[in-house]
Amino acid sequence: MEDLDPRFVRADSKWLARHRVEPGGAVDLASIPSVGGRKLDKKSARKAYRRSVRKLSELQEKFYADGRFAMLVVFQAMDAGGKDSTIRNVLGPLNPQGCRVSSFKVPHSEEAAHDYLWRIHRAAPARGMIGVFNRSHYEDVLVVRVKNLVEEERWRRRYEHINQFEKMLSDEGTVIVKFFLHISNEYQRKRLQRRLDRPDKHWKFSPADLAERARWPKYTEAFEEALARCSTPHAPWHIIPAENRWYRNLAVARILLATMRKLDLSYPEVTFDPSEIKLT
Ligand code: AMP
Ligand code: MG
Repeated sequence: MEDLDPRFVRADSKWLARHRVEPGGAVDLASIPSVGGRKLDKKSARKAYRRSVRKLSELQEKFYADGRFAMLVVFQAMDAGGKDSTIRNVLGPLNPQGCRVSSFKVPHSEEAAHDYLWRIHRAAPARGMIGVFNRSHYEDVLVVRVKNLVEEERWRRRYEHINQFEKMLSDEGTVIVKFFLHISNEYQRKRLQRRLDRPDKHWKFSPADLAERARWPKYTEAFEEALARCSTPHAPWHIIPAENRWYRNLAVARILLATMRKLDLSYPEVTFDPSEIKLT
């Protein structure tokens, strides 16, 4: 993969294709860089990111007014991969009235009593809204697979369920964009160490994170299969090199902006003639 050329910082189609997982292809995470923007100037990348986020929030109003689409943005990553920080940086500046973040944890008893897509569908965004998923239904082929929480025969069927479910949402007006924030094993070690070193980050650490870290190869395998099997034209996965946070933020913002621009949004027709209305 060649690196970002500043000349195409503005080209939406390049951004849409750049990190996308091609449907039907295999994914080998070890061969994909986890550090992005090596050839980019950090300062101009930061500026481009801020501009993109500003444009995104301008377009969000039109998206809401247009009202034909919902948008679902999915974030998955290894632990300490930067999901929270990406959401804060890229989606944080949007109008909170049009945006909702859902975080999926270990299913509580009511959730666990239903099929695994039940809680997901309930959190899916309404038209006009942007729904952000911090973890998602993909946990049901990731942690569930890695920790053998259900039998293999059962999680194996889920790739197909997920593709069908996402197709249904898409057919009914939900635009789906999925991001895998890609980091290396060494970077995860550094980020977890930081949680131990900084008293204000202790709350983010759990001794269980160590057991999860030891399962890195199994998670890699599970991610590779989910990314390969569930990247579809209607719900593409993007593998974002996430170790330079400024590049990560830029890439996510640009892909969301490009996706929204493709929708050709318009303001709804009004049923009155504004020029004939005189305010007194
Ligand atoms: P955090 O995002 O750090 O708050 O952690 C949430 C935890 O919930 C992670 O360890 C996830 O793997 C776990 N989790 C999320 N969804 C599921 C699921 N469907 N089944 C089991 N564990 C899950
Ligand atoms: Mg955690």
